[in-house]
Amino acid sequence: MKKLSLLFCFVAFLSFSHKAQSDQEKVEETTSDALIRSHMGFLASDALMGRDVNTDGGRAAAEYIKSHFVRHGVKHAPGMDSYFQNVKLKKVTPPDGGAIVHKDKSLEYGKDFILMDGDNGEFEGRFVFAGHGMEEDLKKAKVKGKIVVAFCGDGEDESPQGWFTMAPDKRAMAKEMGAIALIEIYQNVRMPWKFITAYSQGSRLAFDDQEKSDDGFQHLWMSTEDKELLQTIQKGKGKKKDILNISVSGLEIESFDTPNVVGVLEGSDPKLKDEYVIYSAHYDHVGVGRPDAEGDTIYNGARDNAIGTTGVLSAVEHFSKYPTKRSALFILFTAEEKGLLGSKWFAKHPPFPLKQIIYCFNIDNAGYNDTSLVTVFGLGRTTAERHMLDACKAFGLRAIDDPAPEQNLFDRSDNVSFAEKGIPAPTFSMGFTAFDDEIYKYYHQANDEIDSMDFDYLLKYVRSFLLSGRFIANDEKKPFWTEGDKYYEAGVELYGK
Ligand SMILES: [Zn+2]
Repeated sequence: MKKLSLLFCFVAFLSFSHKAQSDQEKVEETTSDALIRSHMGFLASDALMGRDVNTDGGRAAAEYIKSHFVRHGVKHAPGMDSYFQNVKLKKVTPPDGGAIVHKDKSLEYGKDFILMDGDNGEFEGRFVFAGHGMEEDLKKAKVKGKIVVAFCGDGEDESPQGWFTMAPDKRAMAKEMGAIALIEIYQNVRMPWKFITAYSQGSRLAFDDQEKSDDGFQHLWMSTEDKELLQTIQKGKGKKKDILNISVSGLEIESFDTPNVVGVLEGSDPKLKDEYVIYSAHYDHVGVGRPDAEGDTIYNGARDNAIGTTGVLSAVEHFSKYPTKRSALFILFTAEEKGLLGSKWFAKHPPFPLKQIIYCFNIDNAGYNDTSLVTVFGLGRTTAERHMLDACKAFGLRAIDDPAPEQNLFDRSDNVSFAEKGIPAPTFSMGFTAFDDEIYKYYHQANDEIDSMDFDYLLKYVRSFLLSGRFIANDEKKPFWTEGDKYYEAGVELYGK
C-alpha cells in the first residue's frame, strides 16, 4: 500500500513536472545569475567607456553582440548579408564665425544670426524682402538671382517649433524660384532669440542619407535689436543699393557609420515562421562626460541599457535552444541616446517588409525603484497584455503600465519608431512607480554601474521578458493595438486589416 502510493506520487509528480517543464522551465533552464552577470559585467565595464557611438567602446559592444549571435547560430536577417546594418550619420559642428554686412552695419555670427542649412563661404548679392517667404510672397517679390529676406513662419502658426518645421520647405521653394539665399527674421516672445542661438551652438548628429545639397544656397535665421537695420531690410527691393555681404566659416561635417546589430532565428511552425517578433534594446549609451563628486567620468549605463542588451542576448540564447512558432528578429540599436537614430533608421530602411513584423518587444531602462514590479510602457495598449501579466506572475513579479504618463516615456524609446509604422510595440522596463529621486540618482549619471544593482531581481526581470516573448510568439492569434489607440489606424494600414 505504502509502495503503491509512493509510486502513485512519483507518477503524479512526473506528469506534473512534465507540465511545469513547459515554457517557464525552459526559460529557467537557459538563464542564470552567472549569465546575466557576465553580459552586464562586460557591457557596463569601464573598458567600454560608456558605449558612445563612433568610439572604440561602442564598436566593442557591437562586436560582442555579434560574436554572441555567431555562437548561438543566429542567421542574417532576410535582405541582409551581415549582422551589421550600418546607420549613416553625420556630426555637424556649427560655424564659429561669419557676418552679414549692409553698408556700415554688420551682424555677427552666433549672436545675431545662425546657419540653418548651407556651407562655409562668402558672397554678395542684392536682397529683396518677401513677407513670410510663402509662395505668393516669393512670386510678388521677384526673387530670381537675389537674397530673399522674410519673416519666420507663415504668419499664422506662432510656435517656434512650427517655424522650425516649415523652414526646409521655405528654403526649397525659394531655391526653386531662383533665389540664391534665404534669410528668415526671427521675432518670437515664446522663445527668446538667445535660446535659439544657444541651441544652435552644440554639435549634433543627423542622418546622412540625403544627396548632399552642394548648391551653395545659404539659409539663415537672424534677429537683431537694430530697428533701423530691420526697417532698411524690410524695404529691400533688390535694387543696386540693396546689397548684402554674407560670410560663414568654421562649419564642420564629419560622416561616419555606426551599426545596428541584427539577426534572426527561424520559427518552428511552417506557416507562422514567416512572421517575426522583434526583441530589441539599444546598446549605446552616452560615453564619457562631466565627472561626478568622486571624479568618475565614465557613464557606464548599466541600467540604461546594458540590462536591456543583456535581456536580448538572453533571448538569443534561449530561443536558439527553444524556438517559438514565429521567427525571432533580434535588433540591438545604436544611437538611441542621440535621438532614437538607430531604430528610426531601421524603420526607414527595413531589410524586408515591415508588415512581416507582427510585434516589437523592446527593452529600455532609466532605472528601477520597486523590485516587485515590471513596468511596461504600453502594457494595456496591445492585446498581448495578458501574456506579460502571466509571464511576470510566473516569476513572482507584477506587470504594471506607465506610472508617469507626464514623462511621455512610451514615445521616448526605440519602440516608438515601430509604433509609428503601426507595429504593436511596448517597452519592457524594470519596476518603477514614479520618476523620483531613486531614478534620478542613476539616470544618465556616472554611477549607473552594476555594483548598485539587485541581481536576484534582474534574473526574474529577464526571465519575465523571455517568457512573455514565448507566449506572444507562440500565440496563434496575432497581437494588435487595442481599439482606439493612437497607433491603431497605422496598424490597420500596415497590415491591411
Ligand atoms: Zn535607454
